[in-house]
Amino acid sequence: MSSVVKEAAFMIRSASCAVALTGAGISVASGIPDFRSPGGLWARYDPQKVASIEALHKNPAAVWKFLDETAAFVVKAEPNNAHFALAEMESSGYIQAVITQNIDDLHQRSGSSNVIEFHGNCSSFYCMKCGEPFHYNVAKRKGKGLEPPRCTSCGGLIRPDLVFFGERIPEQAMKEGDFYSGGADLAVIVGTSGEVAPANMIPSQIKKNGGKLIEINKNGSAYSSICDLSFDAPAEDILPLIADELLRKEF
Ligand SMILES: [Zn+2]
Repeated sequence: MSSVVKEAAFMIRSASCAVALTGAGISVASGIPDFRSPGGLWARYDPQKVASIEALHKNPAAVWKFLDETAAFVVKAEPNNAHFALAEMESSGYIQAVITQNIDDLHQRSGSSNVIEFHGNCSSFYCMKCGEPFHYNVAKRKGKGLEPPRCTSCGGLIRPDLVFFGERIPEQAMKEGDFYSGGADLAVIVGTSGEVAPANMIPSQIKKNGGKLIEINKNGSAYSSICDLSFDAPAEDILPLIADELLRKEF
């Protein structure tokens, strides 16, 4: 293992612009289940009925019931060593950005500063009618059969600032994603199966431009065949080793 860790550190150190691309797998050790895994939330809920923009308009109560269940995991979650290792690698200049499909805020909470969120964030909310932002405390919503929350100024429905099925990726995130797709020469892919567009196109674009890919994914992914280096292990075990290796050596 140590020689592969050294090789990964060497590749990151040699890159002129490295980014991390993260997905649900990085937050599993923080207590947030992977929606797509067997037994995950998508095994129990139909995303079209509880997490689509259509459902939010037609049946906000079902959507909010689902949001309450999701929020219960998120409010309890703490960043793990994989998040901290990425934050350390960013602050020491080895990676330039974290592009994430996660909505859990754990990268920011672990100290990463350039975080590009493709699917928004479930810690901020706004009124669908007047646009007023809300720092809604989901942790305070307890119990069953709660009504969806309403705006205190206009009575409109409050929604989280995350991307529902059927909605576009935020324009700013797309722009920044394109910037790194074109300009990065290394991506560290962490805990993402590579099935969700458009985030999944970033690694293939980097590879096409002559860049390198390192993958840290239990059980591999759709990226495995194009990766230069693959770790079939949990990110919270591997990323701290790579960060230590990067920070230990002086050049
Ligand atoms: Zn309002």
